[in-house]
Amino acid sequence: MPTSNATASGSSGAFGSSDLPDVPLSEGSTGLAVQRLQSVLIRLKYLGGRADGDFGPKTKDALSRFQRDWRLTPDGAYGPETRTALQKALTPVFKPPVVSRASPNFESRQGVDIDVIVLHHTGTNRVAVDLATLRLSHGSGRVSAHYLIAPTGTVYQLVPDNRAAWHAGVSSLRGVTEPSVNLRSIGIEITNDGSGQTPFTEAQYRALEQLVPYLARTYKVPKENILGHRDVAPGRKTDPADNFDWPRVRRAVDVVL
Ligand SMILES: [Zn+2]
Repeated sequence: MPTSNATASGSSGAFGSSDLPDVPLSEGSTGLAVQRLQSVLIRLKYLGGRADGDFGPKTKDALSRFQRDWRLTPDGAYGPETRTALQKALTPVFKPPVVSRASPNFESRQGVDIDVIVLHHTGTNRVAVDLATLRLSHGSGRVSAHYLIAPTGTVYQLVPDNRAAWHAGVSSLRGVTEPSVNLRSIGIEITNDGSGQTPFTEAQYRALEQLVPYLARTYKVPKENILGHRDVAPGRKTDPADNFDWPRVRRAVDVVL
């Protein structure tokens, strides 16, 4: 990993929240606090050059762009909300290791950006059955998902993120049907019979706590678009089942987004 030539961060270790200034800063501010803010903006690739400690138009512009990306008021000034967002942006995300099991059931995203993540339960407790279903290459009921999470926590990747998988069916995002949910989403199947009695496993939650924040940050998915199949196909679908621990997944997302 390339290192910036900024000198303000002190140690060469990972950036933490302690690197972020605790005082409000805006255009015209100077000094070490500005230097620390600039170092962070450089690290996040919003600012080029070096951290000179002068909060000028370039720093203001960099901060505004960051704020826009994080859906904050893009005023180019540094305060508590921006500090919290920068802290989240500095928290690294990692894609969990995946086992590749390619499915033939996918299509082009037709240029549509990913902005939705849909979670499902498969309706069985048997990962071999689920893998077979999601990779069926003929017949009228061909379905797929990008990921399948086994009870052991193994994450199977069936369709590459940049292709549309067939997991949502007749769906809408809060009533919006175009582009279709399939074209704009990542689908994650969780092996579980959906009885509401079979617990989703600890290993599945751990995988989700890594995968969902990774996808959300990578594709800038708004938090309100991290949903269950039942939310995009109300009245038609009920997955994931009522015993699925959404707060646990949402807490993991909140750390980085
Ligand atoms: Zn589903």
